[in-house]
Amino acid sequence: MRKYEFGNVFDKILKKEIACDFLKEQKYAVAFKDISPQAPEHVLVIPSGPYINYIDFFERASIEEVADLLDLLACVRKERFSDCAAISNQGKFGKQEVLHFHIHLIGGIKQKTPEIGDQFCEKKLIPYELSRNYFARSKKILSLEDFIILDGEYEQGLRVMCVLLSPARRTFFDWCASRDFEKINRMLRDMASKCGELNIEAGGSRLVIGGSTNFYDNKKRFCLKIFYNACVGNMLGRD
Ligand code: AMP
Repeated sequence: MRKYEFGNVFDKILKKEIACDFLKEQKYAVAFKDISPQAPEHVLVIPSGPYINYIDFFERASIEEVADLLDLLACVRKERFSDCAAISNQGKFGKQEVLHFHIHLIGGIKQKTPEIGDQFCEKKLIPYELSRNYFARSKKILSLEDFIILDGEYEQGLRVMCVLLSPARRTFFDWCASRDFEKINRMLRDMASKCGELNIEAGGSRLVIGGSTNFYDNKKRFCLKIFYNACVGNMLGRD
């Protein structure tokens, strides 16, 4: 059972009890600089409501809250980043430190996008791109007009749930910029619901919204990836 604990550091930031470097404040979401940047540009985007992690948020938040957060995410990305990775850590496997939902936007490294993801993802545990092997091994668990959801083993027991957008949607950020929030919200809710069916939240996970596409069929498709499996975390010495 989830229980949001008030008094965490982001709750205090929202209540202006502690200072931080705010970039933008909207009705339901704010963006500020990470106090301990992992790259030249490192921004956090958070909802102002009490949600523990991305699964909690996409399951329970209203469409207004989701739209405001995604609007802010797309806006900060456009204004401050030429290319970046968006990552959200959840629970033990994701090594989430602050139990208030947040999305890291990281960029500004003079390298191709994959290495940005790798650099941020501690010990290179989390691959930024998915291999053809993954797609060959994965199973389709939901198929709709705008996206499909796959689930499968990546390697060494590390599992990935992957949301592949239809080619017409180009990237997740393009889709956000189109302000098609009703459909995006439905997709994110379906994603959160599949996380529930697979019991992903219990062990923890890492959501990666990459800046590039992955091969699935003959077309390149943009995907959101959820890496999970608590036992891999333990095997590789993560607590
Ligand atoms: P996570 O490990 O995904 O929970 O990330 C938490 C992030 O919050 C880390 O990158 C921290 O550097 C960042 N952080 C912690 N306290 C503050 C603060 N007071 N102001 C800005 N960022 C913070």
